[in-house]
Amino acid sequence: MSSITDPEYLMEEIANNCKNFFELKVMGPFEDKFASVLVRYLPKLRVLSLRCSMLTMKALIIILDGLHSLEVLNISHCLIEGQKTPASRGIVKELDESILKKASQLHEFKTCMKDSCILCQRTKADEGLLRWYKYEEGLWKADEVSSLAL
Ligand SMILES: [Zn+2]
Repeated sequence: MSSITDPEYLMEEIANNCKNFFELKVMGPFEDKFASVLVRYLPKLRVLSLRCSMLTMKALIIILDGLHSLEVLNISHCLIEGQKTPASRGIVKELDESILKKASQLHEFKTCMKDSCILCQRTKADEGLLRWYKYEEGLWKADEVSSLAL
């Protein structure tokens, strides 16, 4: 799914109509409201990929605390927005202990937050909504969770 304007409506429809819906990939901004909606309507989600998206630290915490069936989470090359201060835009450079501890319950937790990584740089340059058409074919799934790299 690429950026969704009304996640609540969509997630409610999925919850009502797709009983075996367990995997979701979101491309584009993932904020607190979207995270809360996921927890409310799709609490049995097992696989979630937010690869190359902009997300907030709070959204990440909501997901890790609220999706108890989650087994696989991919936040590689994400732009994670934390607390904004006058000195910075609040982009998180690394995950702290409390996040890693929450994530340790997952089977698979894919991350990448390196200044030297080309995809991380592109996510930043494209402000959390990658223009995939500009880049190499197949790149969108290069290090995706295997069940989502179709
Ligand atoms: Zn990266």
